[in-house]
Amino acid sequence: MQIETLAVHAGRPPEPHTGAITPSITLSTTFERAADGSYPHGYSYTRSDNPNRRAWEEALAALEGGGVGLAFASGLAAIAALLQTLSAGAHVLLPADLYHGTRQLMLDILQRWGLAADFVDMRSPQLVAAALRPNTRLLWLETPSNPQLDILDIQALAQLAHAAGALCAVDNTWATPIWQRPLALGADVVMHSATKYLGGHSDVLGGALVLRDDPASPLAQQLRAVQSLSGAVPSPFDCWLLLRSLPTLPVRLRAQTVSAGRLAAFLHQHPRVRRVNYPGLPSHPGHALAARQMQGFGAMVSFEVEGGASAALAVAGRVRLWTRATSLGGVESLIEHRASIEGPDSHTPAGLLRLSVGLEHVDDLLADLAQALSE
Ligand SMILES: *Cc1c(COP(=O)(O)O)cnc(C)c1O
Repeated sequence: MQIETLAVHAGRPPEPHTGAITPSITLSTTFERAADGSYPHGYSYTRSDNPNRRAWEEALAALEGGGVGLAFASGLAAIAALLQTLSAGAHVLLPADLYHGTRQLMLDILQRWGLAADFVDMRSPQLVAAALRPNTRLLWLETPSNPQLDILDIQALAQLAHAAGALCAVDNTWATPIWQRPLALGADVVMHSATKYLGGHSDVLGGALVLRDDPASPLAQQLRAVQSLSGAVPSPFDCWLLLRSLPTLPVRLRAQTVSAGRLAAFLHQHPRVRRVNYPGLPSHPGHALAARQMQGFGAMVSFEVEGGASAALAVAGRVRLWTRATSLGGVESLIEHRASIEGPDSHTPAGLLRLSVGLEHVDDLLADLAQALSE
């Protein structure tokens, strides 16, 4: 089945007892055992499993073409869970440009627990090959990357990881399975901040891992144990909201991507803009690779204005329709001065503004950016 069809139907059969088309929310934390001690419906306690969580996990696994999905309370909880399957002494390779929270989690918390990390420019598979160590257990990819939209070659890097005996995991938050299916390109694990496009309405936090493996594999079992024992699981209502958002994901993302392409082209020819990061632009260094491994270029754009931080903050200060806020993937368009939210350890250029393109009419979005840039 095509992804639009899966987005509507996966994990959402009509309810057998009532015929309800929309699933009920099962708030119960605990489930009755039968006289013989068994769990006749397959559920015992909501931290371990819950009908709403199971439906959301199954739906996302179907969209990513994976064997098993695991839901977490946030994207970072999902990343932390995967890292908790590693043992002290393991080495993790991460890209130089990536979500700031992933870098901080690795450096501030997991390094103290005995994991080593290196950050390399993964646009070059040669640099990755040179950075691999005998104890490298995980290659962490983020493509397109946050916030500079680097494009990484998933197929080539997954091959390098496997040859070194490491897993390859891809943060697929920005592309979503609508535009990129990392498991089909050889990755072992896909991660999502479901807070972004999957939720799509800026009203629910969520995270997920999807594995190529089946549920009985050692990695899947280990992750189920971390999920249940660390307990960073989403509530039944969160899962219900996330499942509710999936049917509209393909049309939302398609419309947002069309607008992002137009805005990127406008910014690209603007005299006050030094540089536009959008893989759909033929001038983007990752354009050809993105055209090969993605079905669409996505709805995130970043750009650098002439004049550094003060000029960028001034542009953001003049918008009227765009909202100045962090996060992304919702129906409303957001603009963010990324370096100032990342703080003193930021690796982001001072003049960079990040756009999350929403569902407003693109002419209105463009006119507002034009007036904000025109001072
Ligand atoms: C937001 C984000 C995360 C973290 O997700 P949370 O749901 O905020 O914990 C991870 N990766 C990327 C690319 C993100 O944009």
